Amino acid sequence: MSNRHGENEAPTTPLALAAMLDDAHPIKTAAADFARTSLGSIGSDEFDLARWEAAAEFGIQGLMIPAEYGGQGRTAVEGALTFEGLGLGSNDNGFVFALAAQSFAMQRALITAGTETQRKRWLPELAAGKAVGCFAMSEPAVGSDTGSIGTTATPTDSGYLLNGTKAWVTLAPVADVIIVFATTDPSMGHWGLNGFIMETNRPGVTVGPVQRKMGINSCPFSEVRFSDCAVSADDMLGNPGAGGSVFTSAVEAERAFLYSAQMGSMERVLNLSIERARSREAYGQPIGGFQAISHKIAEMKLRHETARLLIYKAAELFDRGEGMTMAGALAKLQTSEMAVQSALDAMRIFGAEGYTVDAPVEAELRDAIGGLAYSGTSEIARNLVARLLRVDRPMRRKK
Ligand SMILES: Cc1cc2nc3c(=O)[nH]c(=O)nc-3n(C[C@H](O)[C@H](O)[C@H](O)COP(=O)(O)OP(=O)(O)OC[C@H]3O[C@@H](n4cnc5c(N)ncnc54)[C@H](O)[C@@H]3O)c2cc1C
Repeated sequence: MSNRHGENEAPTTPLALAAMLDDAHPIKTAAADFARTSLGSIGSDEFDLARWEAAAEFGIQGLMIPAEYGGQGRTAVEGALTFEGLGLGSNDNGFVFALAAQSFAMQRALITAGTETQRKRWLPELAAGKAVGCFAMSEPAVGSDTGSIGTTATPTDSGYLLNGTKAWVTLAPVADVIIVFATTDPSMGHWGLNGFIMETNRPGVTVGPVQRKMGINSCPFSEVRFSDCAVSADDMLGNPGAGGSVFTSAVEAERAFLYSAQMGSMERVLNLSIERARSREAYGQPIGGFQAISHKIAEMKLRHETARLLIYKAAELFDRGEGMTMAGALAKLQTSEMAVQSALDAMRIFGAEGYTVDAPVEAELRDAIGGLAYSGTSEIARNLVARLLRVDRPMRRKK
């Protein structure tokens, strides 16, 4: 068989390259079809456990969990393709975000830092959709500056007592298991951090109430308070003092791959905008005939494509076991910022109807805005990029 240039077909394309080249990769398409038929569109602002179980049956929560713990052990590229498909297929961005948050942050920390007992206890249930997990670092007074958290882990004869309050914890109101970070010595910053994993109904843990937010409302978040909550050494995630690195490595992966769902929704918003530009008429012609509209759509396409390239680059580096801090930060920045721009342009293209709650694009904008803050803000991602470029280091003077 020859390709369109009349040359022999190239050998099988590596997956990341195929993901970049093929807008309709079969893994993405299968996930999009599933999302369209089984997740559907936004039903209500409530978390839907039945759909959570349906997603688990399709294999979403188990996607990134190794086979020996009941999952499928997929690569990051496969994970990103799947979540891109989910974001494309369903306009319930909250629900898809919930699935991604558990898969790429909470589960990842447990897989990389958990003991065999902890993994066996929780991963099979998470994969099967029988348990919901959450990941708690942020606090009402501390978000970005994670080395300054106020939740303490005070040593006792049998373990630690946790005291403090976590905030904006995705899925906490419906979660069975929580990974929480606390400090044993606030003066040590990141080096004083420790992670713990436990049931959310443990004595001393209070969840809620739900914190109301602007968008992604089918994925609830809330505060979680710890009041003399007793944990043992067996509940610790990773070695004593390793909480900072457990958190950093989980968030590094989350930063890149959580946004594959948003990248999928960017394509959906692009498609809606094209449809509108072709069907809405003004001054006797489809509005897509006006350059001011068609160029917006061209920009939307460019934003979506660049987000895709960056995410699949980060995923490929991750799968190769290579450093992906820069690639992940760039992927997060581009996707989150550009998703907001594209949703805003979509609203402009839809005119007044775009501002009504019944329009298909109104929720997209509210949903997209959350991406500017979760997994770290855009400013923190820019700091990371600048630091890796050593922008803050003075040049050495030549003698
Ligand atoms: C939808 C959603 C879901 C979330 N889910 C979770 C979750 O599951 N678990 C969890 O632990 N947290 C979660 N968060 C919280 C999120 O991680 C924090 O919002 C984020 O880390 C920023 O912290 P902050 O909101 O306290 O902002 P702050 O840290 O108070 O920052 C305020 C502003 O100052 C800027 N700023 C701060 N420091 C710097 C700096 N050094 N340089 C430049 N600018 C700076 C920030 O960029 C921001 O613009 C979620 C947030 C949202 C919106």
